[in-house]
Amino acid sequence: MRIRIFDTTLRDGEQTPGISLSPDQKLAIAKKLDILGVDAIEAGFPVISDGEFKAVKMISSEGLSADICGLARTNKKDIDAAVDAGLNYIHTFIATSDIHLEYKLKMTREQALAKAIDAVEYGKSRGLQVEFSAEDATRTDRSFLKHVFGEVAKAGADRIDIPDTVGYATPEYMAEITKDAIEATKLPISVHCHNDFGLAVANALSGIRAGAQCAHVTVNGIGERAGNASLEEFVMALKCLPYDQKYETGIKSELLYETSRFISKTVGVQVQPNKAIVGDNAFGHESGIHTHGILSNPLTYEPISPELVGRKRWLQVGKHAGIHGMNAMLSEYGIHPTDDQAKQILDKVKIIGDQGKQITDVELLSIASNILGEKGIKRIVQLTGFSVSTGIGTMPYAFVKLNIDGKDFIGTDYGVGPVDAALNAIQKITGQISELRIKDYGLASISGGSTALCEVTIRVEDAQGNSVSAKSIGEDIVTTSVQAVIDGINRIMLKKMLNQKQLS
Ligand code: MN
Repeated sequence: MRIRIFDTTLRDGEQTPGISLSPDQKLAIAKKLDILGVDAIEAGFPVISDGEFKAVKMISSEGLSADICGLARTNKKDIDAAVDAGLNYIHTFIATSDIHLEYKLKMTREQALAKAIDAVEYGKSRGLQVEFSAEDATRTDRSFLKHVFGEVAKAGADRIDIPDTVGYATPEYMAEITKDAIEATKLPISVHCHNDFGLAVANALSGIRAGAQCAHVTVNGIGERAGNASLEEFVMALKCLPYDQKYETGIKSELLYETSRFISKTVGVQVQPNKAIVGDNAFGHESGIHTHGILSNPLTYEPISPELVGRKRWLQVGKHAGIHGMNAMLSEYGIHPTDDQAKQILDKVKIIGDQGKQITDVELLSIASNILGEKGIKRIVQLTGFSVSTGIGTMPYAFVKLNIDGKDFIGTDYGVGPVDAALNAIQKITGQISELRIKDYGLASISGGSTALCEVTIRVEDAQGNSVSAKSIGEDIVTTSVQAVIDGINRIMLKKMLNQKQLS
C-alpha cells in the first residue's frame, strides 16, 4: 500500500520555539524535501507575515514535484492569501474540542461547524484542493467530530486530516477515530500527531493501520512543544517493521540522514544523540558484547543496516569495550597489534574509562602508538603555510597552504572570526579532494592568564558519514584549531585510503 508523506517541517516544524526562517532558507529546505521524495510540502501560513507570504510564493513557483500546500484558518482573508501566494492546495483548520471552542474561539459547536463548511466551500469556489483539519480532534466529542467530518466532506473537502494537536491520543483511540472519519467521509484521511507523550509515530502508524492514507510529519520530529511525528522514524517503521502488509512511500531512505543534518543545521536545532534513525548514537556501539556481535553479523545488534538511511556504523572503545571491537577500530587506521599488545592497550583504555573519561579515536591511537612504539600514524596532509589577518573594521581573512600526498594546494577565505576563516580556507581545499566538513568544534582553556593553553577538539565527517575526532593543545587558539582540523582530516583520509585498499 502506498502511503502519502505530507511534510510540515516548514509550517509546524517552524513553530518550534526559537525557530524562525528566512524565505531563502525555507526555499532551500523545500528543495531538499522535494529531492528526498515527500509527496506534499506544507510551505507555511501565508497570511501571518510578509516574509512568510514571500517564502510560500517562492516555493510554490519553484516547480517542485511535491504538492505545495499552505495553512489557512477558516476565513476568506487567509484563503485569499494562499491563492495570492500561488497555491492551489490549502490546509484549513478550525478547532472542534469544547475546551478550544469555549476558551479560544468563544463559539458554539454549531458556529464552528458553519465556519468550517463556509471555508471548504469558499476554497473549492477558488479552485483549490482543500484538506480540512478539525483542530484538537482527539479531545473533541467523538460523535461531534464524526459529524463535522461528514459535513465538510459534503461541502466538498478533498481530504480530511485528524490532528492530535496536543499529543493526547492513544494508538487505540487514533485507530477508532480514523475509522470514524473514513466511514463518515469516504475521503483520503491524514493523521497529524504530536509527541507530547512520545507516541507521535506510534499514533501515526496506528492511524495508517486503521486505514489512513497519509501522515503529516516533520524531519527530526521538530514542531511545537515536544514536536511532531518524525518523518524518518515513521517512514522507516513502515518500511522495515514486520507488518502483515507491505507499505511503500516515495521517500529515498538513503537521503534521510543527509536531509536531517541539513535541516538541523539550517533551523539551528540539534538532534538528540539517542534519536532513532538520525541521532549520533543510532548506529554506534561501545559495549564489547555488542561490538563482537556486530563484527560477526551486524544484524545481531542493529535492526536495520545504517546504509539504508545513508549512514555508517561506528564503534567506540571505552570501559565496556572488548578486544574484538578495539582491534576492528585500530585496523581502520592500519594498526594491527599482537595479542599481547592488544591486551595492554585495552587495559589502558579501561583504566581511562573507569576514571569517567571518554575515549575518542584520538586517545585510542595515542595509547596504541605508545605501546607499539610507533611514531604515530601516517600523515597524508601537512600544513606548510598559514596566516590569518583580523582586526576591527575588516573581515578576518585566512591563507592556508597544504601538502596533500605530495601535491601543494592553496586556499584563502573569509570568516566571521579568524578560526572560522581558517576552517573555511581549509575546507576550500579539502572540498576538492574529498568532501569533508567540520561537525563539532570545541574550545577549552586549560590554564589561566594570557599565556593560557587551550585545547581544541573537533570532529570532521565525510559525505559518507564517516567521522573522526581530533584534539590539539597549544598557546594560540587559531593555530591550535587549524592543527586539530588538519589532524582530523589526516585520520579520515587515512581511514578512507585503507578502506579502498581493502575493497580493491
Ligand atoms: Mn500541529
